[in-house]
Amino acid sequence: MPHEQTNASTAAAEQAIAGQLRDSLRGEVIDRGHPGYDEARAVWNGLIDRRPAVIARCRGTADVVGTVRAAREHRPVVSVRGGGHQVAGSAVCDDGLVIDLSRMRGVHVDPAARTARAQAGVTWGELDSETQLHGLAAPGGEISVTGIAGLTLGGGLGFVMRTFGLSCDSVRSLEVVTADGAVRTVSREEDPELFWAMRGGGRGMGVVTSFEFGLHRLGPQVAAALVLYPYEHAESVLRAWRDVTCTAPETVTPEILLWSVPPDPAIPEELHGAKCVIVGGVYGGPAGADADAALAPLRDLGPPLADLSGTVPYVALQSANDGLFPDGRRYFMKSHFTEELTDEAIRTLLEWDSRRPTPQSLVVVRTLGGAVARVGRDDSAFAHRSARYNVSVDSAWEDPALDDAAIGWARSAWDDMKRFSSGGTYVNFAGLGEDASELHGEVFGPHEERLERIRTAYDPEGLFARAARRP
Ligand SMILES: Cc1cc2nc3c(=O)[nH]c(=O)nc-3n(C[C@H](O)[C@H](O)[C@H](O)COP(=O)(O)OP(=O)(O)OC[C@H]3O[C@@H](n4cnc5c(N)ncnc54)[C@H](O)[C@@H]3O)c2cc1C
Repeated sequence: MPHEQTNASTAAAEQAIAGQLRDSLRGEVIDRGHPGYDEARAVWNGLIDRRPAVIARCRGTADVVGTVRAAREHRPVVSVRGGGHQVAGSAVCDDGLVIDLSRMRGVHVDPAARTARAQAGVTWGELDSETQLHGLAAPGGEISVTGIAGLTLGGGLGFVMRTFGLSCDSVRSLEVVTADGAVRTVSREEDPELFWAMRGGGRGMGVVTSFEFGLHRLGPQVAAALVLYPYEHAESVLRAWRDVTCTAPETVTPEILLWSVPPDPAIPEELHGAKCVIVGGVYGGPAGADADAALAPLRDLGPPLADLSGTVPYVALQSANDGLFPDGRRYFMKSHFTEELTDEAIRTLLEWDSRRPTPQSLVVVRTLGGAVARVGRDDSAFAHRSARYNVSVDSAWEDPALDDAAIGWARSAWDDMKRFSSGGTYVNFAGLGEDASELHGEVFGPHEERLERIRTAYDPEGLFARAARRP
């Protein structure tokens, strides 16, 4: 019989949980009266303003077990925080208990076995700097301050995914605290159904305390294409880019952005802020002549505004965009998976782009295929193996007065682009209010029933039900 989750909304209930946790945890227990409360409840997206009853900043697996046990006893709404970057702000909840893993930052690399074990509060930048010491990498996302946890559990699209697969494809095993308080090592051999779910559908199944990744040879230097094209040629550049993606080798993962020229000192200042098309691609192998040849077509889509292509340290590449998505700004995102990018889809995308609510807002098209598509559709919970593209519409703004306009733009663009979608949306890019009732079928597609069975088997009382419902 599922437990009714309650907000720990009475002062007495809140004090009872906080008191029990203070008695048992090594980590900090932060309640509403704590001087660090506002800092601890803030997440990356400034649109999110949730006020949890208690935040348990766990220091290790034992703290997580203690917190899960307290949650079983008091039954608050529970959310789990990794890096705090989910656009929907689902790491925090109102009036409930946050299991905060952000202080669990250990990484251990075994270069001989080519594996890394990383705790669930680690960010991609931290993992990259340890693995790159050995010229190894786990494929991550495109921003170094994003958490490895949420990104991997939802799939993980990144700069080298066509070469090495999604982030979740490199997971060898996970340590998970399930709703019964048990600590499980989950892998293809042990708890295989949970292992299947954790790779793309891992929200609300338990608390992952660490990930073991298989690593790939990459870096420390990598070759990358980065070309800015003038906005007036956007349609022809998009079409030419689309054609290049159809023949690109698996060593290249092309992406294209409709955005504004970033304030990069390598670009003439008079161009900063102007609308432009940005084409990028990273070579998933050694820098050199082969890499340059493979990336060349992305640099030949028309007359460029600026060509910043070159060889860069992988760690620098992974953090190059961090400053463009600062903490505290307001964000809303929504995306489609699609198998084709027709001329009509391109024109429609450009029409919506012409109505972008702020210069910081953008449209991003990423190319899947290659190693992503080689994994069988039913081999993991990630349901979009056959998609060639992910089309993401991302609003970013500062002024709360623009909330409706900015969110409305992304929603309307997404609605209109739906006719070009092959079905499906990416859980990791879902913004505030994208509730599961509307989203789950889109996110998990044919895997929805199996995921629900697994969730019920491991969490029959619905301790993590809220985490499962929100992206
Ligand atoms: C600027 C920016 C850039 C991004 N770029 C990419 C990208 O290139 N590729 C990509 O794929 N995604 C990208 N994302 C999306 C990203 O994958 C998600 O935001 C992801 O949820 C971030 O993980 P996190 O641990 O920081 O998130 P959190 O907000 O901490 O967690 C998100 C959700 O995951 C679950 N969760 C987190 N940790 C655990 C855990 N240890 N155990 C169980 N459940 C847990 C919880 O349900 C939580 O609500 C980006 C996001 C941002 C903000």
